[in-house]
Amino acid sequence: MRNITVLSGGMGGARFLQGLLHGIAAGTLPGVAPDAQVTVVANTADDIWVHGLKVCPDLDTVMYTLGQGIDLERGWGRREETWSVKTELAEYGVEPTWFGLGDRDVATHLVRTQMLEAGYVLSEVTEALCKRWQPGVRLLPMTDDRVETHVAIADPDSPSGRRVVHFQEYWVRLRAAVPAETVVFVGLDESTPAPGVLDAITDADLVVLPPSNPVVSVGTILGVPRLRAAIAATRAPVVGVSPIVGGTHVRGMAEQMLTSIGVEVSAAGVGLHYGARSSGGVLDGWLVDERDADAVPRIEDAGIACRAVPLMMTDHDATAAMAAAAIALVTA
Ligand code: GDP
Ligand code: CA
Repeated sequence: MRNITVLSGGMGGARFLQGLLHGIAAGTLPGVAPDAQVTVVANTADDIWVHGLKVCPDLDTVMYTLGQGIDLERGWGRREETWSVKTELAEYGVEPTWFGLGDRDVATHLVRTQMLEAGYVLSEVTEALCKRWQPGVRLLPMTDDRVETHVAIADPDSPSGRRVVHFQEYWVRLRAAVPAETVVFVGLDESTPAPGVLDAITDADLVVLPPSNPVVSVGTILGVPRLRAAIAATRAPVVGVSPIVGGTHVRGMAEQMLTSIGVEVSAAGVGLHYGARSSGGVLDGWLVDERDADAVPRIEDAGIACRAVPLMMTDHDATAAMAAAAIALVTA
């Protein structure tokens, strides 16, 4: 197979992609050509305008991670970052002070914002930024339209008893420490897939749902109108990797997000939430962690091929082995 399309969020998706590219280069993925092309359809519902700048956290995490520019410890933003701009803005008392805007990162956001204001769309801007970073994949935003995830939280001081915050405020300022009552995807229903997105799914030899957040990463991508229909119709097998291991997320806040939409927080719960392609869902195969082997019969009963293998992305070899197992599951 030559064309692999991955629907990715930020950190979980980016790490999986590192392993996938490593496996392609090493020739350890069954049936995958050494010159196979990977297309990434990235979530843009985390995007936010701050200080007049357009910030695209998931696109940038994928671009920086695959382009060797990421801060490995933090998992987002540039390595060898400094924070003078953030400190200066705080001295002016300008809100939001909770958003991490590093000096090197600001340059990316300046280029992006200037291009958008000059009339280029996000997919064109992303292509231009990738000329520098050479991520080794074709990186596409899910849409060029503005889509934002907002989260409703309890707020006793508000007359309605609740308050709606941007997903970034929920995650970065509130650290996802308060329950999410509902999650709202502003603009999603009216959005259009970015150029190349539907073709990337239709013409793929394999579609992968990496272990990204099933609600606010993969969930939003699948929510772009016509994208789900393209998944239903593609001749390519669709395989997913569970981000839930041993009953919770490995890192992040998938647990809070799944709870807010009433989905069981387990590898089986997420697999069944995605559903079998044969009955209106999106999956042909679902990979769960060894610790979640008890999920296998439940998933198979739903018409989805399932296997339990180690799913911790500890290094590129381990992650490439996950990718190999995912591919074998739906192509054997
Ligand atoms: P974000 O946009 O930065 O939140 O990243 P993603 O949505 O792409 O991925 C977040 C998900 O990655 C979380 O739900 C984690 O549970 C999952 N994740 C992170 N590390 C691992 C890992 O080593 N193994 C598995 N299976 N999932 C992981
Ligand atoms: Ca994200």
